[in-house]
Amino acid sequence: MAGTGAAARAGILLRDADAIERAGRITLVAFDKTGTLTEGKPRLAALHPAPGFARAEALAIAAALQAGSEHPLARAVLHEAGAVSPAKDFRALPGRGVEGVVGGQRYALGSSRLLLEAGGGRGALADAAAAGEAAGQSLSWLIEGNEARALFLFEDAPRTGAAAAVAGLAALGVKPAMISGDQRAAALAVASPLGITDVAAEVLPDGKAARIAAWQEAGEAVAMVGDGVNDAPALAKADLGIAMGTGTDIAIQSAGVTLLRGDPALVPAALEITRLTLRKIRQNLFWAFGYNLLGVPLAALGLLSPPIAGAAMAASSVSVLTNALLLSRWRPRS
Ligand SMILES: [Mg+2]
Repeated sequence: MAGTGAAARAGILLRDADAIERAGRITLVAFDKTGTLTEGKPRLAALHPAPGFARAEALAIAAALQAGSEHPLARAVLHEAGAVSPAKDFRALPGRGVEGVVGGQRYALGSSRLLLEAGGGRGALADAAAAGEAAGQSLSWLIEGNEARALFLFEDAPRTGAAAAVAGLAALGVKPAMISGDQRAAALAVASPLGITDVAAEVLPDGKAARIAAWQEAGEAVAMVGDGVNDAPALAKADLGIAMGTGTDIAIQSAGVTLLRGDPALVPAALEITRLTLRKIRQNLFWAFGYNLLGVPLAALGLLSPPIAGAAMAASSVSVLTNALLLSRWRPRS
């Protein structure tokens, strides 16, 4: 109770005692990228239409395909486009994008993987795409048939606590890693400056849990930190799920720990307070048994007077409680 109270004051909600025990053993922390290490509010940095295609037209079609979507990239497009009427015959393509009919013509909007699977090349947009990838931007393609009609480039700023999170894990001897559905270059653009070298990119939503399982088979006790609907299976699969409080309800439901402030620097803080709590529990067990192991035989042999035995019994409770309450002085480092 002292440990969960100290954690809660710092904005870390520990679901139950089980979460505390599992958190205390973690050796590797896998971060989701978008919305976890980054703000999750990407903005449209550039829009390159293919030759013969107008910028305004590309923007209007993309917005129609994404009308009503809660996806961060969709919100960035809708913010740019203003009012739109939604596409007809709309369909989501999990992990790839969306498709639908706009103005009697079928379009798809999605990742480079989607363009590749449609059998399309990058054509005249190849240079702009390569420049965007090198800059760590997220790419989204507007595709008609198997032709790339426009390239959308998005930028997402890292969260301020991201560097402190990685430094804090290093201080605890815990390895950092990243799992992202985004292109490898976009994932590395966030991971590399933070010093995260273990990066799994272009992971489909159902692949995140499989990646966690692979780390577990390699002997790691894995914590997964995420915010999105697509992180939920990985949060449940991990030894410990940590949800950003700024994330979706299903992520929070799937996690043993919730960070109220959505600050990744609270991740090492959560591991630290749970380790301290477990240490206190062991200390207190030692003292509780220690008093009795010493006192009961002495009393049985008549070497301990009842008043002293009574005082020792009370002193044992007081010392255990005091030791536990010392936890409430704990504060996160950052
Ligand atoms: Mg996310």
